[in-house]
Amino acid sequence: MTQLASIASTPATRAAPYDLEGLRAQFPILGLRIGDAPLAYLDNGASSQMPQPVIDRLVHYQRAEHANIHRGVHYLSETATAAFEGARRKVQRFLNAAEECEIIFTRGTTDALNLVMHGFGRAYIGEGDEIIVSTLEHHSNIVPWQMLCQERGCHLRVIPCNDRGELLLEAYAELLGPRTRLVAITHVSNALGSISPLREVIDLAHARGVPVLVDGAQAVAHIPVDVQALDCDFYCFSGHKLYGPTGIGVLYGKAALLEKMQPYQGGGDMILSVSFEKTIYNVIPHKFEAGTPPIAAAIGLGAAIDFVTGVGIERAADWEATLLDYATEQLSQLPGVRLVGTAQHKASVLSFVLAGVHPHDVGTVLNEAGVAVRTGHHCAQPVMQRFGLPATVRASFALYNRLDEVDQLVGGLQRVARLFA
Ligand SMILES: *Cc1c(COP(=O)(O)O)cnc(C)c1O
Repeated sequence: MTQLASIASTPATRAAPYDLEGLRAQFPILGLRIGDAPLAYLDNGASSQMPQPVIDRLVHYQRAEHANIHRGVHYLSETATAAFEGARRKVQRFLNAAEECEIIFTRGTTDALNLVMHGFGRAYIGEGDEIIVSTLEHHSNIVPWQMLCQERGCHLRVIPCNDRGELLLEAYAELLGPRTRLVAITHVSNALGSISPLREVIDLAHARGVPVLVDGAQAVAHIPVDVQALDCDFYCFSGHKLYGPTGIGVLYGKAALLEKMQPYQGGGDMILSVSFEKTIYNVIPHKFEAGTPPIAAAIGLGAAIDFVTGVGIERAADWEATLLDYATEQLSQLPGVRLVGTAQHKASVLSFVLAGVHPHDVGTVLNEAGVAVRTGHHCAQPVMQRFGLPATVRASFALYNRLDEVDQLVGGLQRVARLFA
């Protein structure tokens, strides 16, 4: 967590709590040049880069371990199964889940949210019931619930936020009612970086017996997560925002809830026995993992977790807070820049607009300066509507970013200002 109004930090006086250059050297892609400029990769909120140990793990699997899992008695199948299930245990430890069977591999956060919509929503949320989300949600934590509302006649209730991008807890408390069946909320807003007050959100929901699902896609790389301490009922994230591969994600669910849920998809691996008269589903987590999973990606995610826990999420968060504070301070001084999302508690995201210049034009000029940022609505159009904007420019930081990459961003923005003056 970071305080926006912190003491000025300068590149000369602040250093990462680890060997930043040594760490960067493990990410081959960071050495790219874009035209004449070195790459400054500030689009980590969309996807972070993979370090060599993760790439090596993927290659090793493909060269020496690949076979389908959970089926064969042969050497390769057993090796692949052991690596895949080993990755599940790494995720379990990473989230501090009580049991291994509470970790379900999915294709990503979106897939995990849809799994809960199908498996929990369809079974337990009906006509007139209510689902609470927040203004800050990514589309993937809005649209599945809207689909359920259309199908079942239930209703979405939305927690508002203030002008800083902080959720309003009093309004939330009033939304919780006798028909609330689920609270689905982001841990960190991908558009603004605001950190949700999860402790209060979860305690208030549980006081009424309502389960809470947390979208952790934007959080796991930046905040240590302990699902038992949080006591959330579901938690999900994507591998590719945690220095791992695409195509893999995780849904954590409390075992008692998962047991009661309907399967998401039918197929191989999710059954114990099948006949035309009666099919018996497999135990959790396998009940929710129909078909051949992305085996390599799951093993790669395990390697990414080893990597990031080796650095330490707390130390990464500490450095990212320094980057965010420095960038906030620098951009605040640029004429015409308006920061969007100035919550007291933020993680790794700096959204802004430049007066008179469309964010896409800003992004295009920044690209010419080697700076990769996101421009657009960030798959969070309701947030943009809340702030009366069609789009913003978003710089988002990871553990490998440097202060001089912030300087490169600032230089690029000065060039934008000159070009569009
Ligand atoms: C990226 C993101 C998602 C969607 O993740 P996918 O990997 O695209 O499934 C959902 N929620 C938040 C907060 C995100 O940042």
